[in-house]
Amino acid sequence: MSVVSSVCCYCGTGCGVLIESDARKITGVRGDPAHPANFGKLCTKGSTLALSAQASGRALYPELRADKASPRQRVSWDAALDHAAEQFAAIIREHGPDAVGFYISGQLLTEDYYVFNKLAKGLIGTNNVDTNSRLCMSSAVAGYKATLGADAPPGCYDDIDHAGTLFITGSNTAFAHPILFRRIEAARRANPEQKLIVVDPRRTDTAVEADLHLAILPGTDVALYHAMLNVMLWEELIDRDYIAAHTDGWEKLRETVREYTPEKVATICGVAAADIVQAARWFAAGPTLSMYCQGLNQSTCGVDKNATLINLHLATGNIGKPGAAPLSLTGQPNAMGGREVGGMAHLLSAHRDMANPEHRAEVARLWGVDSVPATPGKTAIELFEAVRKGEIKALWISCTNPAQSLPNQKLVQEALQAAEFVVVQEAFADTETGQFADLLLPAASWGESEGTMTNSERRISRMRAAVPPPGEARPDCRAVVEFAWKLGEQLGRDGKRLFPYTCPEDVFNEHRESTRGRDLDITGLSYAMLDAGPQQWPLPQGATTGKPRLYEDGVFPTGQGRAHFYNAPYRPTAELINAPFPLHLNTGRLRDQWHGMSRTGLVSRLYAHVEEPLLSMNSQDMQRRQLHDGELVRVKSRRGSLVIKVQASEELRGGQTFIPMHWGGRFMAGMGVNALTLDAFDPVSKQPELKHAAVQVEKVTLPYRRTIMRRGEGATLLRLAQPYIGRFDYASVGLTGRDNTVLVFETASVGPLPESLVQEMDAAFGLDDPLLTMNYQDARRGIWKKARVEDGMITGARLSGETAARDWLKNLIAEGASAMAVRNWLLAPVEQPPEGQVGRGRVVCNCLNVAAPDIVAAIAGGADLAALQGTLKCGTECGSCVPELKRMIATHRAVT
Ligand code: SF4
Repeated sequence: MSVVSSVCCYCGTGCGVLIESDARKITGVRGDPAHPANFGKLCTKGSTLALSAQASGRALYPELRADKASPRQRVSWDAALDHAAEQFAAIIREHGPDAVGFYISGQLLTEDYYVFNKLAKGLIGTNNVDTNSRLCMSSAVAGYKATLGADAPPGCYDDIDHAGTLFITGSNTAFAHPILFRRIEAARRANPEQKLIVVDPRRTDTAVEADLHLAILPGTDVALYHAMLNVMLWEELIDRDYIAAHTDGWEKLRETVREYTPEKVATICGVAAADIVQAARWFAAGPTLSMYCQGLNQSTCGVDKNATLINLHLATGNIGKPGAAPLSLTGQPNAMGGREVGGMAHLLSAHRDMANPEHRAEVARLWGVDSVPATPGKTAIELFEAVRKGEIKALWISCTNPAQSLPNQKLVQEALQAAEFVVVQEAFADTETGQFADLLLPAASWGESEGTMTNSERRISRMRAAVPPPGEARPDCRAVVEFAWKLGEQLGRDGKRLFPYTCPEDVFNEHRESTRGRDLDITGLSYAMLDAGPQQWPLPQGATTGKPRLYEDGVFPTGQGRAHFYNAPYRPTAELINAPFPLHLNTGRLRDQWHGMSRTGLVSRLYAHVEEPLLSMNSQDMQRRQLHDGELVRVKSRRGSLVIKVQASEELRGGQTFIPMHWGGRFMAGMGVNALTLDAFDPVSKQPELKHAAVQVEKVTLPYRRTIMRRGEGATLLRLAQPYIGRFDYASVGLTGRDNTVLVFETASVGPLPESLVQEMDAAFGLDDPLLTMNYQDARRGIWKKARVEDGMITGARLSGETAARDWLKNLIAEGASAMAVRNWLLAPVEQPPEGQVGRGRVVCNCLNVAAPDIVAAIAGGADLAALQGTLKCGTECGSCVPELKRMIATHRAVT
């Protein structure tokens, strides 16, 4: 067995991992105790990386289709890249460089990002290269630049320990950055005086831990920050010396915030004025560390939200010292690296400005090209709109799934259908976007490629390959470099001179040189130095270590050295609720799933936390609509609709609903939550308002329910379900089980299905062999059930017309129960399992496999959290389930 150190590929916390492997397979993953982002800890997603690495469902060979109507056929890499180069070159020759575009990803390595950026801006001469970071971080980028002068998070994770107040706003850190949240819990245990303020419309697991939770109405953040500044002014809590010495723009802002009294803003935000006052006092007392994420960024006034939050830091001098900083949490693992190399439509390498002719000339000189284009390229939403209109004819998509993740999916999918030529460079074969690929290029995935990544605290780590990629999959960087050589030949440009790299380190060294003299200067850094451990930027030549905190001297990279106060009025959400659309829809992350589930969706145990897509709704709103848990509703926005199960949630205030961002058209009927979201975007950052839409919710009557359950390999089973999902008004597909995987495919329709469809689906899921299936049919009532039994074990079932046994049956299939013991109940309409066959129930602690019934029984016996951790050990490994354990204690104590 060999062990290499690397980094987790999910969130921007950037946890270090140790990958164990034999010659060809990743066999285990554990936290790296030496990595300063996590000191050996991993959350549920990180700790199951080895399982997702072993899953099938990978894209293995290049595949090309002759025309849109034909299926793709396997081709060689040479043929694939030749074809891509010919297509791109022909379009560029006929329509110009802006007729092609690249849509890349915050999950790419920095070296991948660098070559994509140089390919578009240097070789082709278009700035049409944008990334899914546009959906994630671009408002944070613009907020930093507008106030502090550079896209540079000034704080670090150590500040969590030094802070007197933690101000978490627009972030469910407990779910989205779990290991940072563990660090927050530890800091609070060590310093009980530390205050935690959480601003979030929902009472999330993060908010439950707060000393003060401000459950503001969606989108009202700017009004809240202005009101806090108003209180600070009124109560003389501002740092006048700091303002005078290090900032400008204060007078104008002061005039603006005078209008935002706590009383007035209490009405706008829907919170008590006294709570605004309290938040202002604790913030000003400091040292204060703000942590924020998509709640601020994914908004049509995302830049205003970011920048007016930074106002509070500048006004109170809460920046540039231990425990005091505005620390934007990056959603993706390497959104920061992408920003460093300028891999977006409006950025240039090493934080240079596209609008600055000197900066453009510097980049052109570094790359050895005559010039780089001056006009910003199309950003994510604009890019797909341009594809839809035919302005962009060839699109290269790498490491991202826009047919799931972009808002207003109807338009996005129209665009992908309309494109002349779509290249999809992907590790996983079955993503929603894959179906639109004219050319599919198989990509190496996590644990299979080399490079670097930068986390939320500017810390660069080495990503290492532990095993070779499967099939003919290749690292993205290598594929892009070879494409650049071929495209260069086609266009009569010297691609080999521009892309002379033989390995990712060559690319890193060129990127390093581009940072010389810039705010993110890493000319003192090398792969050899990173081999000794990760480092934060800046790290200029001669330095031996990076810089944990920026702006300690109060000098900002704004030209004049002063930070700018940002003066913006509060603006409401782009879409307002009204009589036809009376409810707010909020979207967000779950703890155990990642983005569009192309990786986490293959690991059955990651469904234990939340097993299916649900609309969460306040219980009184449900009562008013006579809705009950588990019933189907149609959620409708101005763009589309979705049929989904509803569940009551006391996390939400009245008038608000929530759907997780993860489930797309591969896991549910319709196009997922982004059938509902809107593509309006911030005028500066161009980041869309994924966080809010106005919706209506109405009960749907689809009485004929069916559930197919089948044991097997996750990716294979999910693929079997794909042809059928879109044939139902309601369909949900997921996995369950721990040591064994079971597909659960649930549908609902107005009445029984046509016989031909029933037979086709039975055959697809292996439920058609009369020698292996038990059968129960009541034709008069439309009930028809089947169970597949192999070697005395239940391995599958189909319940049609009556599905009461669904939950216990799926558990027994996952646990490999004997068919003999449950034979008489197998096809009966009973919600409770037969005696002695209770099953383990839902697993709450994924790391140590502790199930809910055992936890509930221990709580009934008087156990508190310490006792649960002592006896059952739940919550003692990654700690992600601790908030849920606390909730269970509160609930079941109240009941007993
Ligand atoms: Fe990965 Fe979890 Fe760490 Fe994020 S917090 S980097 S998902 S292990």
